[in-house]
Amino acid sequence: MTEPDQLRLLAVHAHPDDESSKGAATMAKYVAEGVRVLVATCTGGERGSVLNPAMDRPEVWERMAEIRAAEMDRAREILGVEQEFLGFVDSGLPEGDPLPPLPEGCFALVPLEEAAAPLVELIRRFKPQVMTTYDERGGYPHPDHIKTHEISMYAFEAAADPDRYPDLGEPWQVSKVYYQMGFTLPRTKALHEAVLANGGESPYTEWLATWDPANDISHRVTTRVPCAEYFPVRDAALIAHATQIDPTGRWFSVPLDLQTQTWPTEDYELVRSVVDAPTPEDDLFAGVRTSERVS
Ligand SMILES: [Zn+2]
Repeated sequence: MTEPDQLRLLAVHAHPDDESSKGAATMAKYVAEGVRVLVATCTGGERGSVLNPAMDRPEVWERMAEIRAAEMDRAREILGVEQEFLGFVDSGLPEGDPLPPLPEGCFALVPLEEAAAPLVELIRRFKPQVMTTYDERGGYPHPDHIKTHEISMYAFEAAADPDRYPDLGEPWQVSKVYYQMGFTLPRTKALHEAVLANGGESPYTEWLATWDPANDISHRVTTRVPCAEYFPVRDAALIAHATQIDPTGRWFSVPLDLQTQTWPTEDYELVRSVVDAPTPEDDLFAGVRTSERVS
């Protein structure tokens, strides 16, 4: 499955559509450069709501799992990536006070060692040099996103250890692990101000009003990948997730040229590295490209 000089990127995500809203332009850019990119989707998104009014119909709700798999196929084709489901069941986003218990058998409730096993197998089979995942807060407080973070960090260690999961393939050491840092306060503010300066209506007014600066994690960003050329590909992939994305909604209300001028990168935090990769950097593969390797 792997060639010696081939660069490989593994992006771990919780639900179908997360790959298109977090780091999608980065993936499209690396695909265009000849990198193999594989999206691992932990759950089928079975408990997602229908967030697009045009798709809010009983026949859609009844076939949610099937429809979301078909949407994922389309997004995968648009992004040019490979994609595999890890086979867990969506935990849903619990709402209410007190929060209701999580549904039995859902991803968030699977014990860590068992939940990480399919990802360990995938890492050993695909042999990525670089892996992306979410930060310790999930980037967004959905139990599946937090669980995605947990299994990613666990599998990163375990995949390299010959004593763990000995039946799941030969050990593989991922060289670099990143957290997605797409939704930072400075980026949101910059886009907000750019829209207002252009006489438009900002989709971020409400967000910014309730955003506690103490929750901003932008100081952790180590890596900015220039990828504005691929923002249209990102948007097309997002629209493919028709149940989840309203094409007339907030995602698409900031004109692309304004986004390109204001914030032309997707941003990451480098959290693990076994190669020499000084930060700040602008390439997820800095330090792992064969020509730069010290033998
Ligand atoms: Zn999600």
